[in-house]
Order: sequence, then structure tokens, then C-alpha cells
Amino acid sequence: MRSEFLSFAPPMIATEDIDEVVQALREGWITTGPRAARFESEFARYVGAPAALALNSATSALHVALAVLGIGEGDAVVATTMTFCSSIHVIEHRRARPVLVDIEPDTLNIDPEQIEAAVRRTPGVKAIMPVHLYGHPCDMPAIYEIARRYNLAVIEDAAHSLPAVIGGRMIGTPEPGFDLPNLVAFSFYATKNLTTGEGGMLTTNDQEFYQHARRLRDHAMSTQRRYFHEERGFNYRITNLQAALGVAQLERIEEFLDRRAEIMSWYNSEIATTDHIRLNRVKNWAKSAFWMICLEVDWLDETRRDAFMQALKARGIDTRPYFCAMSSMPMYKQASLPISARKSQIGLNLPSYYELTKVEVQRIGSDVNELLKEMSPT
Ligand SMILES: *Cc1c(COP(=O)(O)O)cnc(C)c1O
Repeated sequence: MRSEFLSFAPPMIATEDIDEVVQALREGWITTGPRAARFESEFARYVGAPAALALNSATSALHVALAVLGIGEGDAVVATTMTFCSSIHVIEHRRARPVLVDIEPDTLNIDPEQIEAAVRRTPGVKAIMPVHLYGHPCDMPAIYEIARRYNLAVIEDAAHSLPAVIGGRMIGTPEPGFDLPNLVAFSFYATKNLTTGEGGMLTTNDQEFYQHARRLRDHAMSTQRRYFHEERGFNYRITNLQAALGVAQLERIEEFLDRRAEIMSWYNSEIATTDHIRLNRVKNWAKSAFWMICLEVDWLDETRRDAFMQALKARGIDTRPYFCAMSSMPMYKQASLPISARKSQIGLNLPSYYELTKVEVQRIGSDVNELLKEMSPT
């Protein structure tokens, strides 16, 4: 029995981060201030985006993205069923309809073929919302191709994928020659790859969308006339304190990625994988951000998966189940989507955080191997 409990994903807050926030406080800018602008420009440069807008969360970024696209009543958005709830909720907050589709079994990302089928059978589709799940990029060339063919906007939920690469292109960089509206939302929630406590960023290749989103973020107040509002906006601003933390964290983002990749490689050598016990798979055209370590065991079901997680907890190892498929929830019940339904029952995420050591991963690996051997049906 280990003496120290291995938490799931505590954030990495360094002295530099604390110094930056204290400095921001001393400067007297409490809400949106110069550090928010700096965070935006440095973030845009890092991901290669023409424009970046910092907000108080990725959920806000997705909501604003739908608003600037004018998506509303009568419209439909094709989205993955395998995601965190907020990507789907915001579609309904706009009074539009989410059309959920199933995933590819290896990457766990939205299946382009099923996107096309959904677009063909559903009237009123205006946009596609892929999620780069657990850090692995979606097949964006295939998705953009469908977007072009049917003249749809693309809103990428990149909450997990800072930084991730498709071919040579970082997520956030518009695809070369991409001539349709493109919007990408990043999250800086506490467990994400870069954190500001709460926070998000919206990047886009479209200046008009950028300007509109900027107004919406701040109650859509007229720039000509104070306290006059031409439309309904939101208070989705980020504070200068959060932005200070963001700027400081962004300086170490590559270091964070290297550490997550190293932790992934430790797990790859410690866990006794088979055809039926798998860790993250990465396509040869992709570089994953490895937000989460993903373990899938084919002969588990939800009850046994949960028992396995309980047994790990009793040994001092904290884990999380995969997301529940959105289509399994009463308000989003649609046609059965078997791959995601299955994955959400057999998958779990193992601890991964900056300070996790190789020795700790070895201990987790041996506990996982031992428990799976005990639980194995054969
Ligand atoms: C975390 C997360 C969000 C929401 O991010 P917030 O910044 O907490 O609003 C959206 N989509 C996915 C896939 C997420 O994991």
C-alpha cells in the first residue's frame, strides 16, 4: 500500500506564475487589462492564428462562436457525441439542434463519414463541431472537405489539444487555402494543458467574426455610445489576473507537452497492453497533445470498469472514467451510436501531471497490470 495518494491531475503552478499574478495585482488592473491583450497576441503567435480573443471559458468561446456565425432557431450543428457536455449545451442555448454522430474507434474523434451522412439526412445544418478528444487531432482535412462541399462553418473544440499538430499544421493555424469561416476554442480550466483557473480562447481566420465576438464578449456595448447596446451580448471577459497566469504558463507550454509525452512513454512501457488492453493510439499524421492517458479494456463493462477504478483508488491511485456519450443523456437521446456507447463504458484516464515521476508510473503500471490479471475473464 502506497503512503502517498496519487491525485489525478493537479495543476502545475510555478513561482513565475505566482509572481506574474502578484505583479498584475500591483498594477491595479483587475478586470480586462494590458495582460489580457498580451495573452491574446502571444497565444495567437504561438498557435499561428490570425486573431485570438481571450474569454472566461471555452464554453463561452463556443457560445460566442455560434453567435457570430448567426446559428439559431431552425439550424442544426453536427457534433460528436463523445465530448464534455458544454460543446453540446451551447448549441441548444442558441436554440439550434445538435445532431450527434459517432466516433472512430481508435482516435475517439468524430467520424467524417458519419458527418457527411448526417449532413445529407438533416435539413438546416450550418456547422460542424469536431472535438480533438483527449488531445488527439480530428481528421481535419476530411472534415474541411465536407465543410467546403456543403458550405458549412467549422467550430473546432480544442479544449484538450494545446498544442497538437495535423501534418505540419498546429491546431489554431488555418489550413492553407481554407476559405470558409473557421473558429477554434481552447480551454484553460484547471485540469487543461495550460490553466488560468477558468478561461478560454477563441481563434479565427475571419476579422469580422473576431470583431463581432469581441463586442459580444463585453455586453455588445456600442463603441460609439456608452451604455447603448445594439444586440444582446454577454459578460464573457477574462480578468487581467487570469491573463497574467496565462502569459506565464504559455512560456512553459512546450515543456508541459514534453512532460506529458514522457509520461505517455512511461505508461507505454509499463502497462502490459494486448489487443484487448490498449493505451492512446496516435495516427502517423498527428501529434497528440496527450491531455489524458487513455486506457481501454475490451472485456470490461461499466460496472466492472467502475470496480476496477475503485480498486485502483483503494491502492491510492485516482482515475476518471471516459466521458459519457452525450447521446446517452435523456435530453440528447438520439439514434443509438454504438462505438461511443461502448467506449464510454470500457475507458478510463490514468493520472498524468507535471510532477508525476517515472517511479510512480511504474507503481501505477504494476498495480494496473496486477488488477487486470485478477479481473481478467480468462
Ligand atoms: C473542458 C472542456 C470544455 C469547456 O471548457 P471550459 O473552459 O471549462 O468552459 C469544452 N469542451 C471540452 C471537450 C472540454 O473538455
